[in-house]
Amino acid sequence: MYIFGETSNKRRAGVDSLLIELTDRALAMMYRKGHCDMTIPLWGGKRSAEEQFKIFQQGNSELDGYEDKSYHQSGLAIDVIPYVNGKGTYKFIEGFFDFAQCMFTVWANMVAEGKTGSYVLEWGGFWGSTGWDKPHWQLVKKT
Ligand SMILES: [Zn+2]
Repeated sequence: MYIFGETSNKRRAGVDSLLIELTDRALAMMYRKGHCDMTIPLWGGKRSAEEQFKIFQQGNSELDGYEDKSYHQSGLAIDVIPYVNGKGTYKFIEGFFDFAQCMFTVWANMVAEGKTGSYVLEWGGFWGSTGWDKPHWQLVKKT
């Protein structure tokens, strides 16, 4: 059984309860399917404007946290990365794809269970021509 550890859980503090349930169930499915473990990177959960601005300054986001806000600032986004050989890695692409499969399967179940309200799940792995933000998941209100 995989479960998020103490550090990951601290980093998930303030994240919407739908994303907590979704990532917990997807991680449990990763184990059942024999896939890799996953973890939450630093600033992968809810971010303050200051934290978002630091990430912007480092060139890792186009959102400055003040004029352009990230879904991470409202707790409606979470980043999850493969955990291999005792550490998080952005390089195990297959792990991201396996996790995406689990996330969408669990989300479909949560929709069927009537839990998802007016939210749609979006994955950064579909963004651009390269799927440049594979760690990123966010909940967007249906319009
Ligand atoms: Zn993100």
